[in-house]
Amino acid sequence: MLKRISGLSKSVIDKTRSLMSGDAETHSALIVSRNDHPVSRKSISSNALKVLNRLHEGGYAAYLVGGGVRDVLVGLRPKDFDVATDASPEDVRALFRNSRIIGRRFRLVHVVYGRDIIEVATFRASHDKGAGGEIGESGRIVRDNVFGSIEEDARRRDFSVNALYYNIADRSVVDYVGGLNDIEARVFRLIGDPVTRCEEDPVRVLRAVRLASKLEFDIEPATLAAMQQTSHLLGNTAPARMFEEVLKLFQGGYAERSFAAVREHELLEYLFPLLAKRFDSNPSEELLTLLNAALANTDKRVGQGKPITPAYLLAFMLWPDVEERAKQHVSQGKSVPDALMDAADSVMQVQRDVISIPKRFSGPMREIWQLQPRLEQYRGKRATKLLEGRRFRAAYDFLCLRSSIEPKLKPMAKWWTDVQELPEGEQLDYVAKKPMIHGLWGEPKRDSETKKKQRRRRQRSARKPKRDSDQTPQ
Ligand code: ATP
Ligand code: MG
Repeated sequence: MLKRISGLSKSVIDKTRSLMSGDAETHSALIVSRNDHPVSRKSISSNALKVLNRLHEGGYAAYLVGGGVRDVLVGLRPKDFDVATDASPEDVRALFRNSRIIGRRFRLVHVVYGRDIIEVATFRASHDKGAGGEIGESGRIVRDNVFGSIEEDARRRDFSVNALYYNIADRSVVDYVGGLNDIEARVFRLIGDPVTRCEEDPVRVLRAVRLASKLEFDIEPATLAAMQQTSHLLGNTAPARMFEEVLKLFQGGYAERSFAAVREHELLEYLFPLLAKRFDSNPSEELLTLLNAALANTDKRVGQGKPITPAYLLAFMLWPDVEERAKQHVSQGKSVPDALMDAADSVMQVQRDVISIPKRFSGPMREIWQLQPRLEQYRGKRATKLLEGRRFRAAYDFLCLRSSIEPKLKPMAKWWTDVQELPEGEQLDYVAKKPMIHGLWGEPKRDSETKKKQRRRRQRSARKPKRDSDQTPQ
């Protein structure tokens, strides 16, 4: 057990145990001095250190807190660094020219170093400790801006392992809630009464699942029971907040593990209801293989520091339903692009109620979907046009992954791979020689009435004078 917290000495852990055992509400903090824990300045990013030092030099208390401390204690490299201080947001703002105050629910300061942002939060007390806090229906916290002491700040955090503070003044680690003990035992435990804490903010249920699966920690039984009891409240969470959580689930480098944990805890219906229904009614190993391949692909790119877009993964999560609905529309006579557009609209409508996907991602998702049948029926010179399209690469990757579980797509995927490997001058020759291949979606069946209507429409538009010449300039 001990070696898991690399660097935390045995005597410290014993001391933690005796301090914390039996009395969760203990008011004495455990302070672990700099030589007895593994958090060093080397494990902290230079920008976070700059923020901590400047606050300290300005006469304020300055601590690293949250995932930054937790991850170093378990031997992981932290994804980001959060700072807690007794300086007010305005004080922080005055110390850093490169900062801005953000948020309503929580007022925070972002200190900005290019793309790196250090979040600085003023110590807060519980929302019920005075003006500035607000509880909505069903016990939910609406506003949470009551400033308080460091101990109060620790107690209003979600999990004990997330409430450990590294003090820049003497480089000690400070623990008010038994977090070090839980790190050693590798458990996620909600601070305080677990049901109340989940009701206050149901997103904590998702956070527990995500972080416990990332760290490979267990969830403490009372916390787990509370999560099960309150997970339905996730259904009333603002879709914009849910979108943020989905990003954290799938872009943190542990997407495959997170997805498995979400399914295991039966939370998929709160993220992707259509996909959850599909797994319930027809648990398909192939679909799971496809999604896992997409998730693993994302994790690999994150690990390599390559850019990723949520559009790609989200497109996969919704694709089975888009494809099924579109194929139904085609069989009823719609053209393939129209069928896909209608299918995308109806799937997105269901999804919008749960997770709001911003247009900058839903647009590319639709483009990836629209390109699938077009890539499946490559024909002659049109292929070169597709190759030049800006969404080609994502749509091609999408097709390749689909082909891994749909063998009939393999020749198409291979054909596109071959074309891309040719020098540009030879591509045109290659695609021109290739016979036209009939796509798997089939041509839309048009009844004679639709055909007549289309012919009439075409004739009418041919008769209509062009817009430009139609208008007399004023
Ligand atoms: P990671 O950044 O690795 O995803 P994290 O624990 O740092 O994990 P953040 O979202 O960066 O997660 O939050 C920073 C800290 O803020 C947390 O460690 C926790 O102490 C506190 N926190 C975040 N969300 C909540 C919440 N919903 N309720 C209470 N405290 C929270
Ligand atoms: Mg963090």
